[in-house]
Amino acid sequence: MKQKKNGQSGTAWRPVVPGLDRHIRRRVWAFAGCLAVLCFGGLLVRLFVLQLLDPGGYAARAADQQLRDTVVPAPRGEIYSADGTLLAASETCWTIRAAPQELADELVEPAAKALSEILEIDEAETLEKFSQRSSNDCLLRRRVDRETADAVRRWCEENGAEGIQIRQDTRRVYPQGDSMGCLLGFTDVDNAGLWGLELEYNEALTGENGRVLTAKNAWGYDMPEEYSTLIEAVPGSSLTLTIDANIQHMLEGALSAAVAEHHVAARGVGIVMDVQTGAILAMTTKPDYDPNDPRTIVDEEVRAQVNALSGEERSQALQVAQQAQWRNKAISDLYEPGSVFKLITCSAALDTGAVTPESQFVCAGKINVSGTTFRCANGHIHGLETLAQGLAASCNPCFIQVGARLGKQAFCDYFAAFGLREATGIDLPGEIKRSEYYTADRMGPVMYFGP
Ligand SMILES: [Zn+2]
Repeated sequence: MKQKKNGQSGTAWRPVVPGLDRHIRRRVWAFAGCLAVLCFGGLLVRLFVLQLLDPGGYAARAADQQLRDTVVPAPRGEIYSADGTLLAASETCWTIRAAPQELADELVEPAAKALSEILEIDEAETLEKFSQRSSNDCLLRRRVDRETADAVRRWCEENGAEGIQIRQDTRRVYPQGDSMGCLLGFTDVDNAGLWGLELEYNEALTGENGRVLTAKNAWGYDMPEEYSTLIEAVPGSSLTLTIDANIQHMLEGALSAAVAEHHVAARGVGIVMDVQTGAILAMTTKPDYDPNDPRTIVDEEVRAQVNALSGEERSQALQVAQQAQWRNKAISDLYEPGSVFKLITCSAALDTGAVTPESQFVCAGKINVSGTTFRCANGHIHGLETLAQGLAASCNPCFIQVGARLGKQAFCDYFAAFGLREATGIDLPGEIKRSEYYTADRMGPVMYFGP
């Protein structure tokens, strides 16, 4: 008491010099401040980093532990012909997956047996998947129909099996069967375009997948439905072609008959184009494959040859045969024109004024050019004829004379002006970019390619 009353100088540790007391106090405060900065500064910096610089990092990791993210596949856009016929559509189906860690131990074997039977999958492989007890996700079978999915659901309910997931999915279907396989193409297991229009317009046809976020409890199991969030899937855009289904049907019928009649070995091809706009009204390659089942070889002979092989040799041969049947001959193969080219020669000659529709020519059944004799087709002798008559009869001597009047330079200029040196740029994948032609400097008076 006394010491306290007597004031500062009475305390043993207090400094004798008055100024020194304040000095030490400041140092103590400074020391405490430094300590605080050292202790909490690190935390503040960390807080700053977490809150402002990396706001998503920890949240995302936490969400990953607490949420199950299930993709809801977006339906792919439909493809229609110009007249509204449905050519490609998406059908609802179900994909069966499993989270083995949620399946009760005593159900591992019975589930493997029952589900492999229902899903027509390998029992040993399924058992192997279920035996990985910590596994959270494995695929059992993609895209099964309603009946199969219901059978799976029934078995799980009757046996109280948990962890078997029946997820809604979509599957591509082509209602017209083997019509337009080469044109439409097809999709891969993930519903992405792999060939034809499906590939060319993949981005537009593909929608945006939705998601179901389901809260998981500490064990990783799904929480009740009120903890789930649905992000709706956005369907892909649909595509309407210039193809007219009726014209397409007629072209396919006629071409199939012609291919059969003439025993065509390397497939027949046909295109119907609107001459005013260049729009493709029909396009086909016969025989054509069914896009619902593109991997099966259509040609029976080729299929037998492939199946006679085994191992690596077979898979290579199968791949070659598939690539060949998927090829759209109408745009991927070079076409060597015959008499149809008379139209180009005629247009050029009319346009330059070298001839008029009434210009007269003589067909004596043959014509000699620089020592080489050319004959009119099928032994015809057309006699005196106008250009119009010569074109209607596809007379060879008439058009040899038209070509001579036009001249090789003008002929080549028009060949280029018609765009025959380049690809058409059609909106289909796999168009051949190469063209084969003679330039004027390589042309003699006789250009004779065959019989
Ligand atoms: Zn003739």
